[in-house]
Amino acid sequence: MFRKKDLNQLLGGCLTDYKTYARGTYRGYQIIFNLRAVNNAQIFFVTINASAPGQEAFSALTSFLESQKNGSKYFHGFTCYEHFIELELVSPVRAKKLPATFNEIIDPVIQYITMQSFTAGCQNCGDSVAALDCYQINNTHQILCQNCSREVEAQLEDNKAAIRSQKSSLIPGLVGALLGALIGGAMWIGIYKLGYIAGIAGAITVICAMKGYELFGRAMDVKGVIISVLISIVMIYFANNIAWAWEAYDALESYGFTFSDAYRGLQDILVETEMTKNYYADLGIGYFLTFICSIGTIVSAFRNSSGSYKMKKAK
Ligand SMILES: [Zn+2]
Repeated sequence: MFRKKDLNQLLGGCLTDYKTYARGTYRGYQIIFNLRAVNNAQIFFVTINASAPGQEAFSALTSFLESQKNGSKYFHGFTCYEHFIELELVSPVRAKKLPATFNEIIDPVIQYITMQSFTAGCQNCGDSVAALDCYQINNTHQILCQNCSREVEAQLEDNKAAIRSQKSSLIPGLVGALLGALIGGAMWIGIYKLGYIAGIAGAITVICAMKGYELFGRAMDVKGVIISVLISIVMIYFANNIAWAWEAYDALESYGFTFSDAYRGLQDILVETEMTKNYYADLGIGYFLTFICSIGTIVSAFRNSSGSYKMKKAK
C-alpha cells in the first residue's frame, strides 16, 4: 500500500503494511489505513479507535475536525462514530510528499483526542480492557473485541438471511430489465455510428438492465442478475445487427432498399459483400469488451443479491 520509505516516515514508522491495508498502534490508538476507490478517486480511509469520554467531547471533536479539514486540501472528509473516527485522505500529487502531508493531518487529531482523554478500545462497543483483534469485514478492517466480533458476524448472517428471503417479482422485473437494456442498446448503435465498438455501451446495457430489474421487480436477487445479463447479451446482439443493417441501408438506399429490407436481408448482404467475418469479429469484440467492462459490476451484484460477506481475523 505504501512505499517502504514512506512507511518509515508515516506516523513515526508505527504501521505494518499488509498490502491491502496497513495497521499500527500510534500513541496508544490503533490506526488502520484502507484504500478504496470512491467515484474513481483513490481515498485512504483512516480509522482510529477512539471513544469520547462524553457527549460534549464528541460534539467538540466534530467541530475540531471540521476546522482541521478546512486547513488541508488532502483532508477530504471524516465521520465520527461512537467508538472510532474515520478520516478520508487523498494522496498529494507528488507522492513523496505523502508522509508529511498525512502526518500533518493525523498528528493534530491524535494530539487532540489524547488531550481530551478519548479512550482506545473496541470499535463496536468501546471496551478498552478486553483483548482486541483486527478483523477483515468485506473490503475493510476493524478492531473488535471477541464479543463484538461474534455480534458483527451474527448481524452479517442475519442480513444475509434477510436478503435471501427477499424475492423479486419476475414479470415486472423482466420488463424493467428490458427497458433498461434498450437504453444501452440505443447507445451501442449511436456509438457504433461514430465508428467505435462500444464495450462501454455494453457495460451500460448490463447496468441499466439490472437497475431496471431492481426498480420494476422491487428487489435484486440472483435470478434478477442472471436475467439482466441474459437480456443484455440478446440486446447487444440486436443492437449490433441494427448498427450493421443501418450501414447496409445507407449504402443500398439509392437502390430502393428500405431499412427493414436491409435488416431482414442482412445475412445475405454479409455473404454477398464477404463481410461475414467482420460482422462476427465486431460482435465478438463487442461481447469481449462488454465482459471486461461489466464483470466487476456483475460479480458485486451477485454478492449483494446473495448477501454473502467475508469476515475473518486479519493478520
Ligand atoms: Zn466490543
